[in-house]
Amino acid sequence: MRQVSDDLSGSPEKKEFCGLFGIYGDPDAVDKTYFGLHSLQHRGQEAAGIASSDGKNIQCYTAMGPVQRVFRAGSGILDKLKNPIAIGHVRYSTTGSSKAINSQPFFLEYSRGQVAIAHNGNLINAGLLRDEYEAYGSIFKSTTDTEVIAHLLAKPTHVSNADPLAHVLNHLQGAYSLLFLFNNRIEAVRDPFGIRPLVIGQTEKGAYVIASETCALDAAGAKFVREVEPGEIVTINDDGLSSRFFVKPGTIRPAHCIFEHVYFAKQNSTIFGENVHMFRKKVGRQLAIEHPVDADIVIPIPDSGTSAAIGFSEQSGVPFDMGMVRSHYVGRTFIAPTQDMRELAVKIKLAVVEEVVRDKRVIVVDDSVVRGTTTRGKIRSIRDAGAKEIHMRVSCPPIKFPCFFGIDFPTPEELLANNRNMKEIKEFLGVDSIGYMSLDGLLACASLPGDHYCTACWSGKYPIPVDVSVNKFTMEKYQLRMFNNDQ
Ligand code: SF4
Repeated sequence: MRQVSDDLSGSPEKKEFCGLFGIYGDPDAVDKTYFGLHSLQHRGQEAAGIASSDGKNIQCYTAMGPVQRVFRAGSGILDKLKNPIAIGHVRYSTTGSSKAINSQPFFLEYSRGQVAIAHNGNLINAGLLRDEYEAYGSIFKSTTDTEVIAHLLAKPTHVSNADPLAHVLNHLQGAYSLLFLFNNRIEAVRDPFGIRPLVIGQTEKGAYVIASETCALDAAGAKFVREVEPGEIVTINDDGLSSRFFVKPGTIRPAHCIFEHVYFAKQNSTIFGENVHMFRKKVGRQLAIEHPVDADIVIPIPDSGTSAAIGFSEQSGVPFDMGMVRSHYVGRTFIAPTQDMRELAVKIKLAVVEEVVRDKRVIVVDDSVVRGTTTRGKIRSIRDAGAKEIHMRVSCPPIKFPCFFGIDFPTPEELLANNRNMKEIKEFLGVDSIGYMSLDGLLACASLPGDHYCTACWSGKYPIPVDVSVNKFTMEKYQLRMFNNDQ
């Protein structure tokens, strides 16, 4: 029987992608990886896994579900993995279907020994590379782009290269922050554009930690040291930390995903040199300058709209209040048999505080609007609770283009702003007014120069040339094949 699942997050139209954590030389490495992954849970709740090594042998455990369920208390799994070197991964599928076989770290044995790989991002040439390998008889066991990296690594002509990893990385195109656990070392990699974040920390006792966001360093008791640079390979082993570059530093302009700041990253994280909460508050203030409106209260769509709503309130002088509360006890993936039940569950996840919004002119701040169907549902709930006027303010520009670098937006035709003007968007959402943050305004809030960010989902300007016909969707035929094999 096929299970029906639904996404009950605050913003279910854009799926998070993946989170990475690694630690070297700590007797509690596996437990710390568990806590690190827990703090990165917002980046993926579909599957989780940890691979650990005693310096000679790697053990790996992955399963479907959030971290707490995969490594449930009393299961003894963490004890069995106990080793001083570990990497971990939380996943939301962006490439490859939602199956246990696609969970990471991806483990393999090849001519040079063992390796476990954890990946955040999306390779835009994975389909082409896979086609090439399959034509020569290679057999793939998953539908992820990460397995393509494993095949590249194991290829005899690559293995014999002076620096096999650097050689392999030069074959990859797209977004990738990667952790490789070899028997006696961790190698951490960031793509030449630095699209996804990756940071280095260190514990009091000197163990090095690598994580997608600084919130995971805090969870493991580590202090921030620096970011892994775009195009850099960081090696951590018994000799400490060393670095080399697989592209010449400074030859490629960075293209950090600014959507990480707008929505994905956790508020207490510092990424791309800036705290996420402070950035969002700045954006909220700018939004109030660009789209002022007379109103009685400002409410956020929690949690990702909260920081921007505080900034909006500070700038406009309109009082902030919690007109919606989010339940953190409803699982993100919920098996609901009917649409009615799923809608009910969404209402439990995000409930309106009637006493706050009744008879009020309400400004609603959200981080983004993708398809618009979820936002429309939330607006209807606020209206049903008695709001007199609803003014929607969105802390990023209208999303018009797909992301090929790891964010799972729907097809362009499904994007609300793809071919609608502001009047049509306002009518679709059922609001009294709508105001989106301008792209210039958003970039002005960021600490790095504007051309150091990817803004493609709003501007259509991709930092890496993308051929839609052969890139992201090439992997879909493999997913389809897996699906058909399941019937
Ligand atoms: S297209 Fe948008 S979501 Fe994707 S990497 Fe660029 S800014 Fe981020």
